[in-house]
Amino acid sequence: MNFTGTTRERHEQAHDHISDLAFGAYIDGETRDASSGATFAPTDPAVDEPITQVARCDAAEVTDAVAAAGDAFDDGWGAMEASDRAALLREWVAELRDHLDELALLETLEVGKPLAYARADVENGLDFFEYYANVSVAQEGEHVPTGGDSHAYVRHEPYGVTGQILPWNYPILLMGWKVGAALAAGNTSVVKPPSPAPLAVTRAAQLADGILPDGVVNVVPGSGSDVGEPLIDHPDVGKVSFTGSVPVGQSIMRTAADSVTPVTLELGGKNPFIVFPDADVEEAAATAATGGMYNAGQSCDSATRILVHEDVKAEFVDAYLEELEGWEPGDPLAEGTTMGPLAYEDHRRSVDEYVEVGREEGATVLHGGEPVEGEAFDDGAYYRPTVFDDVEPDMRIAQEEVFGPVQFLITFSDYAEAIEVANDVDYGLTAGIATTNPSVAHRAAADVEAGSVWINQYFGTVPGTPFGGFKQSGFGRECAQQALEEHTRAKSVNLALDDPPY
Ligand code: NAP
Ligand code: MG
Repeated sequence: MNFTGTTRERHEQAHDHISDLAFGAYIDGETRDASSGATFAPTDPAVDEPITQVARCDAAEVTDAVAAAGDAFDDGWGAMEASDRAALLREWVAELRDHLDELALLETLEVGKPLAYARADVENGLDFFEYYANVSVAQEGEHVPTGGDSHAYVRHEPYGVTGQILPWNYPILLMGWKVGAALAAGNTSVVKPPSPAPLAVTRAAQLADGILPDGVVNVVPGSGSDVGEPLIDHPDVGKVSFTGSVPVGQSIMRTAADSVTPVTLELGGKNPFIVFPDADVEEAAATAATGGMYNAGQSCDSATRILVHEDVKAEFVDAYLEELEGWEPGDPLAEGTTMGPLAYEDHRRSVDEYVEVGREEGATVLHGGEPVEGEAFDDGAYYRPTVFDDVEPDMRIAQEEVFGPVQFLITFSDYAEAIEVANDVDYGLTAGIATTNPSVAHRAAADVEAGSVWINQYFGTVPGTPFGGFKQSGFGRECAQQALEEHTRAKSVNLALDDPPY
């Protein structure tokens, strides 16, 4: 995998490199076309070119996939000993690890993320598959002390067929979070990959061929309305896990209400990064820049609002602007690139519109504020790292999720104000805190409304730390034991113990 020449030439070679792979629906262990014969082509956002054709599925393939997943569950996956299931999952992970370069390349081409970060996403996703496999065999018994006349215990039973609806920003990582938990808990899976980025997820499922029994994992590419809705609506789908935007999450919850299907919703964020006056300012500046610019800011847990104490504001801003020099857009296939294009052109337009809103609202552009121009960037969806100062907490840009490489500086004067501003949004996903005072750190961790709080670091989600939202950032937790619990149903069994007859 050594691509040479201009950006356009490198990407053409890369598209060619993967042209032998077939991206249909993956159902019951087979890659197939949509019964309608329709296809679509995800776009490489670095050059605005189609990458390859993918089957555009609809309810017909959802029906087939759910049936296959149901059969696979009944045929043994559901009743298999946990350690046998875990062994098969580990075998699949080993196969995926052998294809790390290929999976990372697919993510880079479809999402636009730098190759090194795509590799990190895939590796991170695989860690979660392994984590869930390990945790699933480490379950202990639950006996309820009812006394000598009965024996009460709790079974944790899988739902059967489960659905996972994925966003485009971290396809394999989130596949690991969701599909890993579902399968390790004994369910089978039907995955709806994101339309802009269906390739890596489909390929990962194909690599289960000959390892997992057919039908255990299925992937049905297609649009949210053609594939996502029928999947949630399907009477045989027992549980749905979704990651994406608030409006789609709300619509999923409504659809799921009809069939009383439990859902996990991981939605957006408008996360604060609070720099207290006793912070190590240099370190905080580096952490804040990474928190906001990693993946070109297209992370639900991105550190988008930087709240800085007035006493350290000037020093912080100097250090932070210096850090931003390390976040200049470039070809995601080129070594050393830290920021690729945004995931697709419409998304760049939406980010640019928010930047315009910020200007109109009276905030000051300190850095960036426009798409990247220049021949090297051809038709790519590149956007410059952008920073607004003089942001007021009630501005739209301080309330709404932008989902791009844009950070907003808000100045505060005391602890109470910092917490009030941090919490004054509809979201509550993650928060960053920079301070050298442990009491302030723990107090703020308790006071912020967020599912994850990271102190003197950012992106602190590791296997075992539950991840999920407060408020409109959703509900349900992934990445920890709780994810396995949420993929099972508790059943209480209570047996009367008769006196021994002899
Ligand atoms: P999105 O537009 O909400 O789409 C997410 C997924 O839902 C896609 O697979 C999409 O399919 C599908 N979908 C769309 N409409 C649907 C419907 N009516 N019924 C069922 N499924 C439907 O989100 P996105 O643009 O992919 O990703 C960005 C958003 O995800 C941001 O808001 C971000 O904050 C959030 N996010 C949250 C987390 C978290 O853990 N909390 C993590 C990452 C991202 P199509 O692609 O075919 O439209
Ligand atoms: Mg979308």
